[in-house]
Amino acid sequence: MASAWSRVFGFERVSLCDWPGMNASVIFLGGCNMHCPTCHNYNLAWHSDTMDVIPQQAIENYLTKRARWIDGVVITGGEATITPGLADLIRDLKHLGMPVKMDSNGMRPDVLQELLDEDLVKLFAVDVKGPYQKYPVLTGGTTSPEVAEENLSQVFELAKQYPDKFLFRITKVPVLTEEDIQEAESYLPEGFTLKHQEYVPPRREHAETDSEARQVSGDMVA
Ligand code: SF4
Repeated sequence: MASAWSRVFGFERVSLCDWPGMNASVIFLGGCNMHCPTCHNYNLAWHSDTMDVIPQQAIENYLTKRARWIDGVVITGGEATITPGLADLIRDLKHLGMPVKMDSNGMRPDVLQELLDEDLVKLFAVDVKGPYQKYPVLTGGTTSPEVAEENLSQVFELAKQYPDKFLFRITKVPVLTEEDIQEAESYLPEGFTLKHQEYVPPRREHAETDSEARQVSGDMVA
């Protein structure tokens, strides 16, 4: 199996906003199982073959040197759960003493279950993109209402079992109405609230994407 480290196309040394209350580094994995028209990381999600891999050694060196100032690592994408060898990458981070948070669109509950079984991830931030019937338009036709409901229902079951390990969020993209957001909120298990994120349109007229802007080279992190 290919190492997940060969799919790391971005690394942000310090972020204060990706893990609430934590000084976190952020690892960006390429590839995604959705094609959302509102995506900010579209090069990373769909064209990562045009991007440079950030060397594992450079990231590990940085995290080792800065362990006193970095509280943990956020793994995001793209969609991290589709990356082969993801659990090994997380184990490597844990060996460095780094707790891990992971972002996900919730379409691979089987992967979340495996990571929970091994207690590899401290927190999952899962996107609920909107009401199930709007998933086709929200995800560029990649995800049917039935598939969205089936997968997210499984994620909600996991959240009931591990309530401290999940938070849910929604981005208020233009196609969503207030009623849509309320409907999406109604899916959540009791005790959970849906964190609302304001939508900022991606700057597609520029070659540079958010993920590229946040990317640092192996030399920089070494
Ligand atoms: S799930 Fe996230 S990374 Fe994937 S296409 Fe949608 S917005 Fe982009």
